[in-house]
Amino acid sequence: MPAVKIGIIGAGSAVFSLRLVSDLCKTPGLSGSTVTLMDIDEERLDAVLILARKYVEEVGAELSFEKTTNLDDAIVDADFVINTAMVGGHTYLEKVRKISEKYGYYRGIDAQEFNMVSDYYTISNFNQLKYFVEIAKKIEKLSPKAWYIQAANPVFEGTTLVTRTVPIRAVGFCHGHYGVMEIIEKLGLNQEKVDWQVAGVNHGIWLNRFRYEGEDAYPLLDEWIEKESKNWKPDNPFNDQLSPVAIDMYRFYGIMPIGDTVRNASWRYHRDLETKKKWYGEPWGGADSEIGWKWYQDTLGRVTEVMKKVARFVKENPNISLTDLKDLLGDNLSEKQFVLEIEKILDPERKSGEQHIPFIDALLNDNKGRFVINIPNKGVISGIDDDVVVEIPAVVDKEGIHPEKIDPPLPERVVKYYLRPRIMRMEMALEAFLTGDIRIIKEILYRDPRTKNDEQVEKVLEEILSLPENTEMRKHYLKR
Ligand code: NAD
Repeated sequence: MPAVKIGIIGAGSAVFSLRLVSDLCKTPGLSGSTVTLMDIDEERLDAVLILARKYVEEVGAELSFEKTTNLDDAIVDADFVINTAMVGGHTYLEKVRKISEKYGYYRGIDAQEFNMVSDYYTISNFNQLKYFVEIAKKIEKLSPKAWYIQAANPVFEGTTLVTRTVPIRAVGFCHGHYGVMEIIEKLGLNQEKVDWQVAGVNHGIWLNRFRYEGEDAYPLLDEWIEKESKNWKPDNPFNDQLSPVAIDMYRFYGIMPIGDTVRNASWRYHRDLETKKKWYGEPWGGADSEIGWKWYQDTLGRVTEVMKKVARFVKENPNISLTDLKDLLGDNLSEKQFVLEIEKILDPERKSGEQHIPFIDALLNDNKGRFVINIPNKGVISGIDDDVVVEIPAVVDKEGIHPEKIDPPLPERVVKYYLRPRIMRMEMALEAFLTGDIRIIKEILYRDPRTKNDEQVEKVLEEILSLPENTEMRKHYLKR
């Protein structure tokens, strides 16, 4: 049984780290491994460490932990480096969004056609992209055999950037493809009998194959749309897999958009709050409206606070058991959410659904599995360059990653009208980042339907580049 060292960068992202730790505990083949938790926020880091240790002690697993604020420590001797850090955090995203809105860019300059996800910045995130390259270069130098696993956004730009510029082994993961399960459940199908496949780029994946008991299952979806879709209402801002926008995209492109792809629609569905509400449902107007995103940020903030509170409690009462938490915590919504998450994590039968640890297990222990993975295209999706990272299903085993043949191929409309324009923006963002040519960023904005004149572009960029955290970005783009 290989014991490995896994470095988690941005480990203060509590729920994510605890999910990985619980998956590790439920993976006998990785017993004895070491997890190095790395973050710049010591308070969050300490809280995660306390909870992770407590959890491992309770389930009797063999795992050791280290914590560090030094990037090198997380990378030296690592076999896998998982990056979930967000440089500048949500505070930076909101600052940029606020400046952008002042100049007429509703939801920020980074909200672009086919990329409306509110923490998926591709234009103003110089520091985040720079960090991806810094980590990759350190891996090349300190642990050249380690795998780099991209979990932080933007996964599409990040994984493409790293695989093009640093010769290390890299993959990206996202959980968007679970949207397929939502459709299967809604249609009342037996998951075991569904044959499905998705393909595209991260946050832009499409259900190219959908068969039930050997027959085309799209007619079942059509029937649901005809009879049931009028009764659809979202339970939360993220609940959009069968929303009017998803159905409208399905009608135009011919197959269903999956997961975050539904958020990444065209301006038609995103012009303003009223438009978003019409397509993504009341009361939020989807995850990326001002209301939906506030809901998400509030939830994240409260979960982080509860996590810190629980960690303090565990520290002061070392004999307490995590299963007693339910009685200890209050009954407000965020605490309930945290308890639910802990219950999931404690359930010995259930893995978190994150793909990272099963991927490591498949590679090292030959526990073959099917994953939806972000890797360079190399001919898998026709009509897309080889060095563009695509999100596709692949079987992983000791021999490596074996991408599935995309069958049937994606419809031409998806490739030509959705993927290629999205890929073009990725190319523009990466070329701007790599060359420092600000004209490319301006060009993106000149083409933006919200831009009324050149002055608006100059002013919004000047103010974003004047933020204290963007000193280096400013030098890179303006040479001053
Ligand atoms: P967050 O800000 O709550 O957590 C990120 C962590 O990164 C924080 O603990 C922060 O202290 C840490 N950090 C910041 N700068 C750092 C640095 N230089 N080195 C190390 N750590 C640093 O953010 P979040 O909401 O948890 O999201 C984290 C990232 O994961 C985002 O990019 C988000 O878009 C992405 N995300 C990806 C998926 C996926 O499926 N791939 C799903 C959800 C979120």
